[in-house]
Amino acid sequence: MNKNSIIIIGGGIAGLATGIYGQMNGYKTTIFEMHTLPGGLCTSWKRKGYTMDGCIHWLVGSNPESGSHIMWEELGALKDVEIVNHEAFVTVENTDGRVFHMNTDIDRLEKHMLELAPVDAAVIRDFCGTIRKLGSLDMPMDEPRGLGGKIKGAFAMLPMAGVFLKYGKMNAKQFAARFKDPFLNKVWNSMFDMPDFPMMGLLYTLGWQNKKDAGYPIGGSLPFSQSIEKRYTELGGEIHYNAKVERILVEDNHAVGIRLTDGREFRAGRVISAADGFATINYMLGGRYRDPELEEYYRKSEIFEPLVMVSLGVKRDMADQPQTMVRMLDKPITIAGKEREYIQVKHYGYDPTLAPEGKTVVMAMFDTKYDYWKKLAEDPERYDAEKKQAALTVISAIDKYLPGFEKDVEVVDVATPLTTERYTGNWQGSFEGWRLTTQNMSKSFTGGLAHTLPGLRNFYMVGQWVEPGGGLPTAGISGRNMIKRLCKEDGKDFATIRN
Ligand SMILES: Cc1cc2nc3c(=O)[nH]c(=O)nc-3n(C[C@H](O)[C@H](O)[C@H](O)COP(=O)(O)OP(=O)(O)OC[C@H]3O[C@@H](n4cnc5c(N)ncnc54)[C@H](O)[C@@H]3O)c2cc1C
Repeated sequence: MNKNSIIIIGGGIAGLATGIYGQMNGYKTTIFEMHTLPGGLCTSWKRKGYTMDGCIHWLVGSNPESGSHIMWEELGALKDVEIVNHEAFVTVENTDGRVFHMNTDIDRLEKHMLELAPVDAAVIRDFCGTIRKLGSLDMPMDEPRGLGGKIKGAFAMLPMAGVFLKYGKMNAKQFAARFKDPFLNKVWNSMFDMPDFPMMGLLYTLGWQNKKDAGYPIGGSLPFSQSIEKRYTELGGEIHYNAKVERILVEDNHAVGIRLTDGREFRAGRVISAADGFATINYMLGGRYRDPELEEYYRKSEIFEPLVMVSLGVKRDMADQPQTMVRMLDKPITIAGKEREYIQVKHYGYDPTLAPEGKTVVMAMFDTKYDYWKKLAEDPERYDAEKKQAALTVISAIDKYLPGFEKDVEVVDVATPLTTERYTGNWQGSFEGWRLTTQNMSKSFTGGLAHTLPGLRNFYMVGQWVEPGGGLPTAGISGRNMIKRLCKEDGKDFATIRN
């Protein structure tokens, strides 16, 4: 079969990006997507006049001046789209009334923190100075594979050597412990409440926020995905929906095509899976080509815990409220069997396309366990009751600080890890694949996990299950780098076209 023809499994951002760069480079690509829509996790859904957004909080590369923006131009993602850059990443209110604004402008953040906690001046100055320094770096788009690439990458990083030495092995909890002020200590502890979340991840995020390169595109997640899909089809790409791949066809240890659940078979010279990694390896390939290193990774590594998302449509203007608010609670609440000492509430009042005039979409997200919901789902009544309970708990917690909120709620929507699994096939309902830790952070700088499986030819993997840390830019970069790699294998120059 002609190696120029490529089958791509999955029409999420990684699959669409692979298709777009494939089309730009003379490959004939066809995407098979099990859902009826493009975008995978990057999606939204309508409920009685409201649009519940399921993804983008911040998009790295949203600033047209930044290097990372180039990829979104190539993917046709942000053309004529208005970007909102928030003044504060998050606002935290303590039980004693103290308020912390995590201002995205680093000078304002430094001033604010110094006022709140002069006792921590040295930590604050060092922290903000580091963000300023890192903020000049774009998200790395090119995979520093091979000695040449690695040396080039190392040179680019040289001015940051001190930062990596100091913060490279530190996690967010260790950083929080540096604050003597109890409130700031608590704030930083709750901010990235994941074990071993790398400080570098936090510093980069704030650096990108500071240079207004991590904004929100008006319209939200589904229109963002649909623009990329449009770009793909305009470049001649073909996409089949309602097309769930059941098996990757292999002959003589070469991937030669796919079989869909409806029995139809399609053939191509190469197969790229941009779908869930676990299902690809264990179901679509029947576990025949397991890489021991990857297997160990699946056994030992932590995923981003799945989420239970409570989205509300409220007949209330929330413009006077911070866009993301964390409130420390006097009395913990229980959601999905876990006690929570704080609640994080986000509203989308800044995007008028998501709700009718004067009304707002409000959302609260909580980490949760896949098995908890899987077990509940054995009894549909209990499962539904738990969803209802989660929504009621959230509404009543918000009503305590926004009196009358409860009666303004018009629409309630609760998504669990099983919802994520059902619509996108992601393992354990994870929303971003492998959780970033101080241990695997270096992998995401050096091109992720292996993108092939041992003994299987003409087969490749892209997306959040081969790039620890996940995220939209990473998914796009993953597809871009894959086609670059195929161009190299085929002895041709990699080409891109901006939109
Ligand atoms: C609540 C939430 C908030 C987020 N916030 C942000 C954010 O602010 N910024 C950011 O950068 N990222 C964010 N992310 C993460 C980001 O959405 C993901 O990391 C990224 O979209 C992953 O893209 P992907 O293409 O690798 O995977 P996916 O989106 O999972 O795409 C895989 C695709 O494959 C399809 N598929 C699976 N199995 C099959 C099969 N057998 N046959 C055919 N098709 C199949 C699926 O339907 C899906 O469309 C968020 C995610 C969530 C859920």
